[in-house]
This record gives sequence, structure tokens and C-alpha cells, in this order.
Amino acid sequence: MENIKDKVIVITGASSGIGAAAACKFVELGAKVVLAARREDQLKTLTANMGDNALYVVTDVSKRADLDNLIQQAISKFGHIDVLWNNAGIMPISFFDEGLVEEWDRMIDINIKGVLYGINAVLPYMLKRGEGHILATSSVGGLKTTPGIGVYSGTKFAVRAIMDTLREEVAQTIKVTTVFPGATQSELGRDITSPKIKAAFGNLANMPKMNEEAVVNAVIYAISQPGNINVNDIVLRPLGQT
Ligand code: NDP
Repeated sequence: MENIKDKVIVITGASSGIGAAAACKFVELGAKVVLAARREDQLKTLTANMGDNALYVVTDVSKRADLDNLIQQAISKFGHIDVLWNNAGIMPISFFDEGLVEEWDRMIDINIKGVLYGINAVLPYMLKRGEGHILATSSVGGLKTTPGIGVYSGTKFAVRAIMDTLREEVAQTIKVTTVFPGATQSELGRDITSPKIKAAFGNLANMPKMNEEAVVNAVIYAISQPGNINVNDIVLRPLGQT
């Protein structure tokens, strides 16, 4: 297996949870990392000890211009990009009859459009370069749905469809990997407002969860493969979750 040393890796949603854990681990392994998210204070703290191997770019993935800027900043700093991981996402889940339409809109804007804008920003560059690797974080909710997660699940099914299609289109040149984590420790769900979800699921923080490292290790496996190997999908859940 190759290693990830010296690879230039751009990660959206890198201010907390899976993305933050990944950024720290990748730098530890000798990669150059570009961390993107909205909360600058978190990004600043995370990169404080990463020296010249890291750059943060304040980015709102629901804004197309922010993704274009992110890709430009990464190339300016490190000369090229090997990997873009579209990882940013939110999960303000609710039941349909609660009508929390603004939260549905936000999930569509961040979880779906954010991935599309990331692909759009980097794809011409990677095609011209003749190589590259694009990842996106879907969810096990992108493989099967349950009551209360309809819109979130819909966005994650969309991520799967987008990535599957992208792979079909660019398979000769670019690696395309979709990550489907089960319940993982992170800040996800902090924006849940639905009273019915809170009543139905109680405290989500008490659910059995994987640590972020489990997902990060699986992604390291995907991006460490030799040039001719494309890991298509990564599905992992904590024991007990089905
Ligand atoms: P966190 O909430 O800890 O991380 C989410 C990240 O996304 C944060 O860095 C957040 O940063 C960023 N983000 C949210 N909105 C935006 C935006 N508009 N623009 C840029 N960045 C944004 O949760 P996780 O680490 O768990 O989530 C990472 C991904 O994993 C998500 O796509 C999530 O759906 C997916 N996932 C998580 C699972 C879990 O159980 N934890 C299971 C399955 C999938 P900021 O707020 O600073 O912008």
C-alpha cells in the first residue's frame, strides 16, 4: 500500500468530528491538509500546531464561490491537490408532519449542493492534471431510511447517486469514493430542534457510537491504495447498529 505522506488533501467539514479528526491524523502521517468549514475559531485552534503542513480556509459549502475559492487557495498554498473530501454535513432531523421546511432547505443546501459545488470546483482541475481523488461522506442513512430521518436520508441517498454517477463519468482518470458511516461520535445533531425527535430518540449522545478514528482509518485505506485501485464505497457501523 502507498502512504499518504506529501499528498495534498482538502477536507470540508474539518472544524469538528470526523473531518477534524481526519485533518489531525493526516498531518501526523505527513500529508498537507487544507481544512474548510465556517467556524474560524475552531479551524484556527486545530491548525495552531500543524505548522506549514496545514491551511484553513473559512468556507460555507452552500456557497458556490466559497468552494471555488477553497480550491484556488489550496493550489496557491501547496501547488496542487491530490484529494478533495466533501465531508461537511448537518443533520437537523424531524418528522415530515412537523413541517420544519427551513431545516429541510438547509440540509439540501449543505449536504447535496455542498457536494456538487465541491465537485464542480475541483473536477476541471483534476481532469486537466490527469489524476485525483474525490470522496464524499454519505451515511448509512444513504443506504436505508427510517421514520424521522427522511430529508437527511434523502440528501445522503443523493450523495450516493451523485458519486456513483461521477465515478461512471470519470472512471478512467479520477478515483471516486463514497463513505457511509454509521453512528459516530461527533457534534452532528447539535442542531436538532424537533420535539418529536427528541421524544422518540431521547438523548442521541447516549447511543452506541464509533469513534471518529474508525472512519478516518477507513478513509486512509482508500486514499493509500496504489494508483490503479479505486475503493468505491466504504460502509462501517458500530457493532449492534443494523
Ligand atoms: P460534525 O457536526 O462534528 O461535523 C460537521 C462538519 O460540517 C463541521 O466541521 C461543520 O463545521 C461542517 N459544516 C456544516 N455546515 C457547513 C457549511 N455550510 N459549510 C461548511 N462546513 C459546514 O459531525 P460529523 O463529523 O459527524 O459529520 C461529518 C459528516 O459525516 C457529515 O456529512 C455527516 O452527515 C456524516 N455522517 C456522520 C455520522 C455520525 O454519526 N456522526 C454518521 C453518518 C454520516 P462548521 O459548523 O464550522 O461549518
